[in-house]
Amino acid sequence: MGKQRILQNMEGYALSEFGKNLKDCTSKEKYIALSKSTMQELVPNWIKSNEKFEGKKQAYYLSAEFLMGRALTNNLINMKLKSEVEEILEEIDVNYNVIEEAEDDAGLGNGGLGRLAACFLDSGATLDLPLTGYGLRYEFGIFKQTFEDGFQKEQGDNWLEHGDPWSIRRDDEAVIVSFSNGDVLAVPYDTPIIGYGQNTINTLRLWKSEALNNFDFEEFNNQNYHQSVKEKNDAETISKVLYPNDSNDEGKKLRLKQQYFFVSASLQDLIRKHKEKYSSFDNFSELHSIQLNDTHPAVAIPELMRILTINENLSWDKAWGIVVESFAYTNHTLLAEALEQWPVHLYQSLLPTIYDIIVKIDTQLKKELNAKGIKDEELADYEIISGDCIKMAWMSIYGTSSTNGVAQLHTNLLIESELTKWYKLFPERFNNKTNGITQRRWLLQSNPELSNYITKHLGNDDWITNLTELKKLEKLGDDKGVLEDFVNIKQSKKNQLADYIEEHEGIKIDRNSIFDIQIKRLHEYKRQLLKAFYILDLYYRLKEEPGFDIHPRTFIFGAKAAPGYFRAKGIIKYINEIAKLINNDKDINGKIKVVFVENYRVSYAEKLFPAADVSEQISTAGKEASGTGNMKFMLNGAPTIGTYDGANVEIVAEAGEKNNFIFGLRVEDIEKIKDSYNPKEEYEKVKGLKRVVDTLIDGTFTDGDTGMFAELHDSIFKGASWHRPDQYFLMKDFDSYRQAQQKVNEAYQDRLAWAKKCWINMANAGKFSSDRTIKQYADEIWKISKS
Ligand SMILES: *Cc1c(COP(=O)(O)O)cnc(C)c1O
Repeated sequence: MGKQRILQNMEGYALSEFGKNLKDCTSKEKYIALSKSTMQELVPNWIKSNEKFEGKKQAYYLSAEFLMGRALTNNLINMKLKSEVEEILEEIDVNYNVIEEAEDDAGLGNGGLGRLAACFLDSGATLDLPLTGYGLRYEFGIFKQTFEDGFQKEQGDNWLEHGDPWSIRRDDEAVIVSFSNGDVLAVPYDTPIIGYGQNTINTLRLWKSEALNNFDFEEFNNQNYHQSVKEKNDAETISKVLYPNDSNDEGKKLRLKQQYFFVSASLQDLIRKHKEKYSSFDNFSELHSIQLNDTHPAVAIPELMRILTINENLSWDKAWGIVVESFAYTNHTLLAEALEQWPVHLYQSLLPTIYDIIVKIDTQLKKELNAKGIKDEELADYEIISGDCIKMAWMSIYGTSSTNGVAQLHTNLLIESELTKWYKLFPERFNNKTNGITQRRWLLQSNPELSNYITKHLGNDDWITNLTELKKLEKLGDDKGVLEDFVNIKQSKKNQLADYIEEHEGIKIDRNSIFDIQIKRLHEYKRQLLKAFYILDLYYRLKEEPGFDIHPRTFIFGAKAAPGYFRAKGIIKYINEIAKLINNDKDINGKIKVVFVENYRVSYAEKLFPAADVSEQISTAGKEASGTGNMKFMLNGAPTIGTYDGANVEIVAEAGEKNNFIFGLRVEDIEKIKDSYNPKEEYEKVKGLKRVVDTLIDGTFTDGDTGMFAELHDSIFKGASWHRPDQYFLMKDFDSYRQAQQKVNEAYQDRLAWAKKCWINMANAGKFSSDRTIKQYADEIWKISKS
């Protein structure tokens, strides 16, 4: 591609859109001009790519969240244009990094589930598979987080303020979605998903809600200004904002509207395209495979029944066959309280036809169960409509041909406990698909230094599309020169992060300290509080125990708490209080530091993972379905300190127990002790534990009279809401965690032995590419193939 053309396009865009010469544009404007001219380059290939899959079976990923992050660098890398563009910009004295940083994250997701969807799209396009993403075009993504006096504050994320150069609005493909109280327009915005090497460019189609009649002149003429725009406002509310809350009841009705809105629009889109080519639905499931990312899009099951039986006049039985064959469901949680349920009255009032169909599905299920010899008194365990609740997980298992967990341990637990009854009914439907991450973003883009080094030693860059190539590097783990280079690369990533943290958080950190990083959504089961207790204990010991010493450590946290999740916000405040105490104590002499970075998000993650010395994966065993952050650390050469949970189990199986630091209760241990567990015993018995836990209530720290710290204390000793005391076994795992941390400290003393552990982790990360995951979905569930 001509360098000149990109530059000309940029100049032209600056003139026509911003009325300026390119050189006078702001960084944001330059970012937009560059992105728009990149779009001009790729659109012809995008059109071609759409055509090449026509008539072939395709897969569709329905997800309420796509946590895409930034697009520019990723797209340039996948188009193999990045260095060329950097050169062009250099010639006109523009620093690429400044332009890169001008892009707002597309934060249309909360955490792991949404980021998984984004990694999957990247892998689908790179593997040349026909995979389309369908979701919601939230006007406001995940909130922006700041800290005020250590408390989390949320601000709206107006990511579209300056427009989105990566999406194209398609008014001609808008559809109407009907609710009992009126219709709304669903307008698609398409974003190209560029496969590495650009052979295939797939589509992420996100729906925006709009009013059918934007403006009511009659009302306006009657001087009723508010009423005249009411329809517009009501309709636009649907795709207004991403729900940041995985755990509250507020605004439930709107959340249900969002789900039905994007699901109905997406299915109508598929049906319309199908009908353009075929006159029957006999081949529908041979041409479409639709993955439900958790139960958020599960209303697709009755919605497709509605379309097929009511709009298209198919018989119930025929339609049901098509539905079950077409859909597949991914389960993402073992937390019983996180299984989605909807109050019957909401469905009845908002989606009465859909509700009637769910009743029919439920009745049919009960008949089927009876026929299988399941007695009436046992039916209650399977009912989709149970009392005044609709159980979305049950409907998702019954209405699809595949139910998968996201790591082997998680799938085993689904089969053995949470979903045993369903497994016995439909054993052939259950399968595992261990999650993965795309190495294009999480290594090639975020760690070019290590990427180049890997390519140099492998003699080629095949690992970019075949990550198991890294295994060939394992044997270099005894080469001193290699390990020294590797340590230097890690150091340069640590320096870059330290600079960034100094600039953005205003905290200077010791570049030679161990960077010990825990970054993930704030949740009690993820146990950021366990790490906080450990740090505080370490601090007291450093101050009080003569002769106790450690290698300097920087504890880095990044996490957003759902705005309505009071205890999670309490944990943030508590960690910030600990940071204030430790970071300002001259006695400690900088030995340890605590940094809670603000507004953790994909673009921040790209700076954090490559700079980590230690990956913290310390969830209570059996609670983290998979985790994907754990994989990003591993790929960038950080050993895991973690529990035997989720994909940690598989990480350790690949990289070896001796190259990681596994501690704590296992699932089977918890099963044994949970009914007689008394956290008070550990609290009294384990040295140092009382001292740190008491700081929640003894006035060491202040929570500004919010009662947050007392509630955290209560959650340990009294239990709170659905919790039993110390539900997440902080007290029980504390000592074992402290010992594992001590081992980390000791292991780090031998720099080359440490580097070898890091190297072996990196070399064995091949399994955790989302290319592997997507290949398995494509072969085993979707039955789709390359163009
Ligand atoms: C990978 C990622 C996550 C998921 O992290 P876990 O540790 O698996 O929970 C969440 N948020 C962002 C921004 C990520 O990049």
